[in-house]
Amino acid sequence: MAKISELLAAGPTWSFEFFPPKTDEAARALEKTVGELQPLDPSFVSVTYGAGGSTRERTRDVVIHIERDTGITAMAHLTCVAHSREQLVSLLEEYREAGIENILALGGDVPDGMEDAPSDLAYASELVALVQEVGDFSIGVAAHPELHPRSPDRTSDRRMLAAKLLVADFAITQFFFEAHHYLRMVDELAALGVAKPVVPGIMPVTNLKSVGRMAAMSGAEFPPHLAERFEALADDPDAVRALGIELATELCAELLAAGAPGLHFYTLNRSPATRQIYENLGLGG
Ligand SMILES: Cc1cc2nc3c(=O)[nH]c(=O)nc-3n(C[C@H](O)[C@H](O)[C@H](O)COP(=O)(O)OP(=O)(O)OC[C@H]3O[C@@H](n4cnc5c(N)ncnc54)[C@H](O)[C@@H]3O)c2cc1C
Repeated sequence: MAKISELLAAGPTWSFEFFPPKTDEAARALEKTVGELQPLDPSFVSVTYGAGGSTRERTRDVVIHIERDTGITAMAHLTCVAHSREQLVSLLEEYREAGIENILALGGDVPDGMEDAPSDLAYASELVALVQEVGDFSIGVAAHPELHPRSPDRTSDRRMLAAKLLVADFAITQFFFEAHHYLRMVDELAALGVAKPVVPGIMPVTNLKSVGRMAAMSGAEFPPHLAERFEALADDPDAVRALGIELATELCAELLAAGAPGLHFYTLNRSPATRQIYENLGLGG
């Protein structure tokens, strides 16, 4: 449909991330969400991949279905861990044959119980090179504004990220809750000579418990001053949601004013929070 690198060059881009549904009911819910988000005219959507291959067919099927049947550009996530080179190549060939033009090349985290499964590729940068061998894809990579949890220090994190971005086309970030984390990372990349587009990932808080858990997993800090504001509303789920949307709207506005090349929303396969933020920002349909 379109290469994301070209969309970004004409930018800014507005994009949504989904995960592949496990059940028929979840598939119907995702279909509904895609239908509700379509009028917002997204630049592209992306579909996550279960590291180790747990969603291999489901990710592929959802990506191809969205691109073919809705006309929305769809990007497939793909991870290295617990995969042979042949497994990765064969999936990439399927995408190429289906006309998919965009891949998010990721390292992935070893899933529980798969610690002994061999991986031919150790790092996302090696997957970027493999994707380039298989086809003429536009290639994105992950960036972690608050550092990747396995990075020994900031300098090494930024050097590895800069090297990865030099060979890829663009990056999408892990979610974060304060703009300064993103802006500092972009400055650090510029100091290393890298000016490729880095699209901030936005995770609106809609439920206090899940954000604490996800932030702990991703290495993103949930700022104490925001936690206090949410905790004061802990007994009122609607008020928590409203505050989450208000704060995400402010974050998006600050990022766009500072020159971010787009916004990538972690939707968790639901549309209302993203639609509300869109409306607050005066974006889209
Ligand atoms: C936008 C986005 C989408 C994601 N989607 C998915 C998904 O669909 N499925 C999923 O399982 N996970 C997903 N993740 C999570 C991601 O897989 C994990 O964060 C994973 O731990 C690292 O992935 P990476 O691509 O950043 O890895 P890498 O770039 O390989 O980096 C991992 C660590 O290794 C270091 N490193 C990199 N290269 C080298 C080198 N040559 N030598 C030494 N150290 C090196 C890095 O500094 C970093 O500390 C996503 C993350 C983001 C931000």
